[in-house]
Amino acid sequence: VIIGVPREICPGETRVALVPANVAALLKKHKIELLVEREAGLAAGYTDADYQEAGATLTDRATIFSKADVVLQVQTPGSNRDNGDEDMALLRDGQIVIGMMDPLANPKFASTLAEKKVTGIALELVPRITRAQAMDVLSSMAMLAGYKCVLLAANEANRMFPMNMTAAGTLNASRVLVMGAGVAGLQACATAKRLGSIVEAYDVRAAAREQILSVGAKPVELDLDTGAAEGTGGYAKAQGEDFLKRQRELMTEVVSRMDVVITTAAVPGAKSPILVTEDMVKAMKPGSVIVDLAAERGGNCEVTEAGKTVVRHGVTIVGPVNVPSTLAFHASQMFGKNMENLLNLLINKEGGIELDFEDEIVRETVVADKGDVPQARMRDLLG
Ligand code: NAD
Repeated sequence: VIIGVPREICPGETRVALVPANVAALLKKHKIELLVEREAGLAAGYTDADYQEAGATLTDRATIFSKADVVLQVQTPGSNRDNGDEDMALLRDGQIVIGMMDPLANPKFASTLAEKKVTGIALELVPRITRAQAMDVLSSMAMLAGYKCVLLAANEANRMFPMNMTAAGTLNASRVLVMGAGVAGLQACATAKRLGSIVEAYDVRAAAREQILSVGAKPVELDLDTGAAEGTGGYAKAQGEDFLKRQRELMTEVVSRMDVVITTAAVPGAKSPILVTEDMVKAMKPGSVIVDLAAERGGNCEVTEAGKTVVRHGVTIVGPVNVPSTLAFHASQMFGKNMENLLNLLINKEGGIELDFEDEIVRETVVADKGDVPQARMRDLLG
């Protein structure tokens, strides 16, 4: 097959779907051809010369979409709400597109692909099983975002993170609370800890307690029954409004003691739960900082504005979007490796693509194929 990597066109997107090392590895292993759009990796720090040296053929966008059997994107038109239509018009019958497509929030994209007889493979749906861990872009990107959000917080804070004893007196260490201790939250704990702050963390999943301790943070214990909080694949289940209300009541005091609050709580396919209300913001010390990593999904803080930094009641609330793109070099390295591992599963000995629906990874990720939406879950979402 011919595999094509176009430059990302989603505004603010600086990552690239394969880095030169992935190109070299794939060409070595399979009987395939690899086309890369000129300057596709430039924003992430990978030059055309690097791709050429790795064995890719550099070309223009139109050629990629017309010649490639498989198009690899970070943001397919499914997740690129701004100008994804431009690419949608270029995708054609029989082609396969692999990338992020926000399938749970934008199921319509699956049916549009099906109508065009394009096969769509959504990376967000890679199952959380051991074999698929090396293909899991959500984990890769969450790790990077968890690191970066602490730096964003440190940058906005009016105090240092570490404790310092100086001739001008002692500076107390900052107190950081991380709400949602999944992949991003745990990396945030570790990063905040490395910067010298005192870190506490909270999650609804019981399993998170030990993970919080393992990165040197203190678990926040609330008198709340979270017995059934863990759903399939280690993801959290959506909690009822009563639970969230009680959680906020108990959290108000904890939050008011903090200098920095980082929120990362997500529920797949659902709007993010509100963990920090405006009243809780009011109870915080002036000059404290909230970084809301869930900003793109509505936010965990009631007053978060996606893509903006706002000050409310003296508290700075940062609502970053596409945080992994701010670390485009490493983000692309990880994304590309995840993609390479998935391609290794899909490409057969003859260099063709075979979709084996007996394989859980294929079954869970293919959202459109041969004019159909094969997954019941996607069809349910489509109604
Ligand atoms: P996520 O991004 O979907 O959510 C972030 C965190 O927010 C989760 O830990 C979740 O429990 C938490 N959360 C949700 N609602 C909350 C609430 N009301 N209050 C507090 N916290 C809330 O999750 P994630 O980070 O992608 O993954 C969660 C877990 O899944 C990981 O910690 C890991 O153990 C597991 N995981 C397994 C695999 C694998 O086996 N292949 C891969 C990745 C992650």
